[in-house]
Amino acid sequence: MATIAHEKVGRTTDRIFNFGAGPAVLPVPVLEEARRDLLSLPGAGMSILEISHRSKAFEEILHAAIADIRRLASIPSSYRILFLQGGASLQFSMVPMNLLPEDGSADYIVTGAWSKKAVKEAQKSGMVSIAASTEADGFTRIPEQSELRLDPEARYVHITTNNTIFGTEWHREPSVGMVPLVADASSDIFSRPIDVSRYALIYAGAQKNLGPAGATLVILREDLLERIPKGLPTMLDYRTHAEGNSLYNTPPVFAIYLIRLVAKWMLAEGGLEAIGRRNEEKATMLYDALDRSGGFYRPHAKPGSRSNMNVTFRLPSEDLENQFLSEAGKHGFSGLKGHRSVGGIRASIYNAFPVAGVEALVGYLKEFASRNG
Ligand code: PMP
Repeated sequence: MATIAHEKVGRTTDRIFNFGAGPAVLPVPVLEEARRDLLSLPGAGMSILEISHRSKAFEEILHAAIADIRRLASIPSSYRILFLQGGASLQFSMVPMNLLPEDGSADYIVTGAWSKKAVKEAQKSGMVSIAASTEADGFTRIPEQSELRLDPEARYVHITTNNTIFGTEWHREPSVGMVPLVADASSDIFSRPIDVSRYALIYAGAQKNLGPAGATLVILREDLLERIPKGLPTMLDYRTHAEGNSLYNTPPVFAIYLIRLVAKWMLAEGGLEAIGRRNEEKATMLYDALDRSGGFYRPHAKPGSRSNMNVTFRLPSEDLENQFLSEAGKHGFSGLKGHRSVGGIRASIYNAFPVAGVEALVGYLKEFASRNG
């Protein structure tokens, strides 16, 4: 793989454009600060990898991570911010174990492979009603409000805010009345302003927009804690982590440290309004290039459901797709291969993905189409 000096950032000159879906690109200033702290955290005299989770240094990091995330997304004080482990995949189980009693029913809106996995786990706890599914349309779109068959008695409604594999995204929350809304926001968390008060629980694996793999962010409305049944395994009970402030057991210290730096970076970038505008610009540049290719490139997602995070598309043939991918490597682009279940191309352009990388890909899209179209 070619290493090309795309990012002009001090001595970091051998970084290529990483379009990977996750773990994914991180902000360069964050990586530079982490590089410094990897040897010795100022004031601690030891590596961030070596400090105790009970140390004052980590206490400050955890506190700052929570405070900055709260500020970034204006999270009301009635919500707890937790850092758990087990990925978003464990949340597929923890949400129903904590919130779906055996005699209860939950509504799931199925918009992709991750929603289906969430359904499979929920079915082990209680009844699941599929309030809508766009599988028959190849998961090319998000359902309309009028398609949702919502049960006013449901314990909660579960959505996947961004479908990483198919490249579709909810552009506004569904109206669910008084029923708690639960969201898997793994692949678009903090990519734009969010009204947290519309949700009862939001979870996200860190490894796309928040930091490295190893931590899962859970934002939970406090009153939900009262509904949790007794007798759950201690580590799978949200109350354990809420009461212990994510320190019941050894938390993923390094991942939380990095999330703390990413949160600080997002605030310095101008917060979610500014980040959202930039994400919109980046995605628009790419979709425009695809739409103006005279049909050479075919976006997977229907307009209106398109993701600003994962741009998925096909070329006229698999041979051309393979050629596109192999030449992309030579241009210094990595991670463009679509998920194995969908094929084609996927460009993941999370918060930290630079505008220059999108511009470079647009140039390549045009050049490749004119050569092969
Ligand atoms: N939900 C979504 C939307 C995802 O994109 C992913 C991972 N790509 C997951 C859940 C699973 O996350 P994890 O690997 O952290 O368990």
